[in-house]
Amino acid sequence: MENIRYFDHAATTKTKEEVLKEMIPYFTLNYGNASSVYSIGRKSKKAVEEARQRVAKAINSDTKEIYFTSCGSESDNLAIKGVAFANKEKGSHIITTKIEHPAVLHTCQHLAKEGFEITYLNVDSDGMINIRELEEAITNKTILISIMFANNEIGTIQPIKQIGEIAKKHNIYFHTDAVQAIGNVKIDVKELNIDLLSMSAHKFYGPKGVGALYVKSDVKFDKIQDGGHQERNKRAGTENVAGIVGIGKAIELSYKNFDEYNKKLLELRDYYIKQIEEKIPYVKLNGHRTKRLPGNANISFKYVDGEALLLNLDMKGICASTGSACTSGSLDPSHVLLAIGLPSDLAQCSLRVTFGEDNTKQDIDFLVDSLVDIVNKLRENSQEYKQLANTSINSEK
Ligand code: PLP
Repeated sequence: MENIRYFDHAATTKTKEEVLKEMIPYFTLNYGNASSVYSIGRKSKKAVEEARQRVAKAINSDTKEIYFTSCGSESDNLAIKGVAFANKEKGSHIITTKIEHPAVLHTCQHLAKEGFEITYLNVDSDGMINIRELEEAITNKTILISIMFANNEIGTIQPIKQIGEIAKKHNIYFHTDAVQAIGNVKIDVKELNIDLLSMSAHKFYGPKGVGALYVKSDVKFDKIQDGGHQERNKRAGTENVAGIVGIGKAIELSYKNFDEYNKKLLELRDYYIKQIEEKIPYVKLNGHRTKRLPGNANISFKYVDGEALLLNLDMKGICASTGSACTSGSLDPSHVLLAIGLPSDLAQCSLRVTFGEDNTKQDIDFLVDSLVDIVNKLRENSQEYKQLANTSINSEK
């Protein structure tokens, strides 16, 4: 395989060998349906329950408060629609933010069509919500606050403890999409007053196709998928036993080495940001400088086209992502970057780099050197940049 340098851990991560090793027997030997009564079925059921314990332990919940799903998106759908439908008689107002992942935003848009009223909170230029604005948005019809733990594009971490306290004070359920936070931030759902929390295994070195939803035992929520009685009647469908074993092992491993991993990511991230700010002019760090995910650096490179930047990086074997939607063929800039007030030219030229356990300082040196070359080259084609360069030369005369 060509020499790939992977800096897109917010998109997905490589499944760890140890995780895969624990999963394999549930494809080949103990392949029984977890609902079957004979021995290989019972073994599957036992493995599912052990994984549930591991997930619960990692976030300090009770085991029976964990429900397995197919991904983070499903967990978000189940949390928000599940609470909305079960609490209709209490109220029909939901509060969320403008910078949520589409799994939350589109779920809220869907509910709006069904008569629910949605408030989308603004964020400041760092991507932070305003606690006062949240409190002012609450009405006697509010049943749910859904605010992401950490943003997938700019990495900003929200004041979750304060949000939890407000939700508790007003007797409103608090859901957080922690898909990007799990494995990167220590989370104690009891201490943070979180009622529902979504996660997805492939973001923390587990397999794709399995997620989990924590739902506090006293939360009233409905299933959203009809079928069998799996997951205590809340999520129909034969359990993805191998995947569930994978999420359990992956979450256990990520919290076992948490401090070391966190320190490494912080060092890599800050080293990268410093190098870029020193070596390339006209750049802007997006998101909060310190209250951000340890492995996330989202930087706009002015006078450069984001898509061209990505393609040039790809030619060097570098995997990263744009903050804008250019890669998907859409010209619309990212809703997150617009929400933090970035003008669309800066929103169109952002690069999200997310570090992970295999990255080294040498990889970052290669990335930075590549970016210096590519940005210089691309700026040669920018009329605006050339004009700026001429103006500054003339004003120096
Ligand atoms: N929420 C956030 C914040 C995410 O970053 C993602 C995926 O990138 C999701 C939800 C959806 O997770 P999944 O890909 O497992 O459906």
